Amino acid sequence: MLSYNDSEKATELAERANDLMEEVVLPKEREMAGGMAVSDGTLEELREAARDYGVYAPQIDEEYGGMGYDFRDVLPTFEEAGRSLLGAAAMRVDAPDEGNMHLLELHGSELQKEEYLEPLVAGDIVSGFSMTEPMQGGGSDPKMLKTTAEKDGDEWVINGHKWWTTKGIQADILLVFARTDQEAHPYEGCSVFIVPADADGVEIERNIPHLGSETHGIGHAEIKYNNVRVPEEHLLGQEGMGFAHVQERLGPARLTHCMRYSGMAERALDIATAYMSEREAFGSKLAEKQVPRHEVAEHRTRLAAARALIRQAADSISAGNEARLEVSMAKVFTANVTQEAVDTSLQFCGGNGIAKDLPIADFYESVRQFRLVDGADEVHKRVISREAFSDVKSEELEPVTRFDG
Ligand SMILES: Cc1cc2nc3c(=O)[nH]c(=O)nc-3n(C[C@H](O)[C@H](O)[C@H](O)COP(=O)(O)OP(=O)(O)OC[C@H]3O[C@@H](n4cnc5c(N)ncnc54)[C@H](O)[C@@H]3O)c2cc1C
Repeated sequence: MLSYNDSEKATELAERANDLMEEVVLPKEREMAGGMAVSDGTLEELREAARDYGVYAPQIDEEYGGMGYDFRDVLPTFEEAGRSLLGAAAMRVDAPDEGNMHLLELHGSELQKEEYLEPLVAGDIVSGFSMTEPMQGGGSDPKMLKTTAEKDGDEWVINGHKWWTTKGIQADILLVFARTDQEAHPYEGCSVFIVPADADGVEIERNIPHLGSETHGIGHAEIKYNNVRVPEEHLLGQEGMGFAHVQERLGPARLTHCMRYSGMAERALDIATAYMSEREAFGSKLAEKQVPRHEVAEHRTRLAAARALIRQAADSISAGNEARLEVSMAKVFTANVTQEAVDTSLQFCGGNGIAKDLPIADFYESVRQFRLVDGADEVHKRVISREAFSDVKSEELEPVTRFDG
């Protein structure tokens, strides 16, 4: 068993999370095998259990209904949560609400915290984060943002077209990223707004059909914002500081994704090694054959390296740094390592790997997106290489931006 430099407090929390996973979440997942869409009442039941085990919303301040653990101390618990696709939602550490709650906690007004953060933490409402836009709009290069918000009296009027807004269909509120100043530098003229999903002009076009859609029950919506009016109190944080605020959301959110996916990969390997320890072929157990043994050793090592990178980046963020380089390295490495580990685990389970009797097929469908969301591999490599070639002038390197992905 590897040990990491997690604090006693962090380890105790993760042990309780492990109890919840083993005793409640994994049995429920097995009960639902092959039909992962969360049925009515299941989520509430799991969240009630998470509260009983003392692991509900550990990352949020107690004042708003959480447990007040700092970012570094929730890390191993987020890894535990990732061991099942139900774990994060049970502990209320699920995307995109987790990142949205973080943003509201950092920059929300007292009124916004009362009206939106507290019910989000309680699980009474759902949120979406609407940033990415279709072709010619903001994607990997967010400077291409087309959505606008214009001031009209004491209201903001939002116009734009977004897609890939996770949970957009279920959401009660949408955090919408829009340009508020056409004259300002692209990184200084944008802002974030809290838009009630039932506001006039919010038009949900569709849930985008995608890999894994039937499995997770979570949709990604295409949404049009047509002359959507929100009162000025719905500006989240400071006007014109949207990129800086969003960066504060995305840095930690990228890492929390890394934590959850590394937990998923670890469980996939556990399942594969258990299968290989029982299954015989050609006169011996699969677990006795050198090729699969070496492959598992390789994935375990890479996963341990990913976890070390995640911890290094989380330490840096906890120390108050932006940690862009550390986050990019952790993100791109973990996304690839977890995808490969899940793929190999599926392979070594034979046909069972494809069957939904085991959770690995669901993991396989889920993990592929991680190399795209929160900044594609290439975008993070751009950040890393900018540092590596800091003395070289190149179009690719200028300007040095405060935001990627
Ligand atoms: C499942 C899922 C959930 C998502 N959830 C959300 C959400 O809740 N809210 C939200 O706002 N967005 C969300 N997204 C959108 C996601 O953040 C974007 O898909 C991602 O940032 C990439 O943007 P894009 O799709 O526009 O790709 P593009 O910008 O069109 O890029 C396409 C590809 O080009 C390559 N590329 C890009 N830049 C470079 C470069 N400099 N050098 C070399 N190659 C490059 C990369 O391989 C990239 O994948 C989600 C996406 C998915 C798939």
